[in-house]
Amino acid sequence: MKYELGHQDIRNAVTQLCRDFPGEYWRQCDREQAYPTAFVEALTDAGFLAALIPEEYGGSGLPISAAAAILETIHYQGCNAAACHAQMYTMGTVLRHGSEAQKQQYLPGIAEGRLRLQAFGVTEPGSGTDTSALRTTAKLEGENYIVNGQKIWTSRAEHSDLMLLLCRTTPRDQIKKRTDGLSVLLVDMRESPEKSLTIRPIRTMMNHATTEVFFDNMPVPATSLIGEEGKGFRYILSGMNAERILIASECIGDAKWFIEKASSYANERSVFGRPIGQNQGIQFPIAKAYSQMRAAELMLREAIRLYEAGENPGEEANLAKMLAADASWAAAEACVQTHGGFGFAEEYDIERKFREARLYQVAPISTNLILSYIAEHVLDMPRSY
Ligand SMILES: Cc1cc2nc3c(=O)[nH]c(=O)nc-3n(C[C@H](O)[C@H](O)[C@H](O)COP(=O)(O)OP(=O)(O)OC[C@H]3O[C@@H](n4cnc5c(N)ncnc54)[C@H](O)[C@@H]3O)c2cc1C
Repeated sequence: MKYELGHQDIRNAVTQLCRDFPGEYWRQCDREQAYPTAFVEALTDAGFLAALIPEEYGGSGLPISAAAAILETIHYQGCNAAACHAQMYTMGTVLRHGSEAQKQQYLPGIAEGRLRLQAFGVTEPGSGTDTSALRTTAKLEGENYIVNGQKIWTSRAEHSDLMLLLCRTTPRDQIKKRTDGLSVLLVDMRESPEKSLTIRPIRTMMNHATTEVFFDNMPVPATSLIGEEGKGFRYILSGMNAERILIASECIGDAKWFIEKASSYANERSVFGRPIGQNQGIQFPIAKAYSQMRAAELMLREAIRLYEAGENPGEEANLAKMLAADASWAAAEACVQTHGGFGFAEEYDIERKFREARLYQVAPISTNLILSYIAEHVLDMPRSY
């Protein structure tokens, strides 16, 4: 297949690295719901997770198109970046809104991989889609914020030193706009006193190292506040275009993996004395998924182009995420169907990738919420919630 590519050197290097992590490696991690430590270490050592950190803080200072190429290639090679993709971009909030002292303190360690900032505590049991309803509080007492509450789906918390935490610093009845009164704390989880922070893993349909996190009078130094108190919601939103672009890249990689698997099996597998790929009932879903993937890829490139030009591509980044997630899901479905019974056998890796691909319809943002963003912010229709 012929794709429009950029950053070919990076793609080649990532492809080479991924060869050391074949299907059997991922199957074993998946079976044990184990963290893919060796894979994450290899990516860290090669410097790929520091792609977006500016050179002055020890990273490679590459543009987002390079990070997108890294993540797309990981997924195209049948691997899964979900265990560590947040190490690449969660630091963006510190970079954009942190003080110079905070950047000096944390970014070089994150760039080296000595410090892991890949836990992002926003979702709560009572507030997923409606972030402004979150109830975790941080109250300033002397030199510390005292944090109480609970987060859920805090992925990689057990494999992170730091957590970017969104919590309420002004009670809801004392604010004018519902998105006010929320603040971002950069929590050093290694320093949380015992019992003030509890992390419990959640087993999920795919191997994702996700957890629920409980805060019980957890002290966090006031110096850990990122930016200004009360403006946290805006800070979190400001990283969303980058996240959408990077997740869309992973979906494009997944779609390519499924499409290549499906088309090659369709050529090989013979039933009724001819390749199954000769049947249009087999060809068309694969061809359709391919066309969806190419269209999503073009939208992604447009989102990246605008992002790198310093614009705010909210529409394009959201569309790219939604179209790419839909393309990867269509490709996953076509791939399973093409493989018949073998699509369900672990050793083909298809069922694992199928489970992994399903997540992107829901997280980090659900398709419905993207549609409602487009309806409201692009098409000027009334807000529905
Ligand atoms: C494996 C996994 C990893 C995750 N990792 C993280 C993480 O690291 N950090 C973090 O903070 N969060 C994380 N999340 C949470 C994720 O972002 C949320 O699950 C997601 O935002 C949806 O929230 P919810 O699950 O509470 O669904 P709900 O808000 O309860 O929504 C349920 C369904 O209703 C739909 N819905 C809700 N309101 C509307 C509306 N107005 N119009 C139309 N449809 C609507 C939603 O789209 C969804 O399909 C993760 C989730 C999963 C499953």
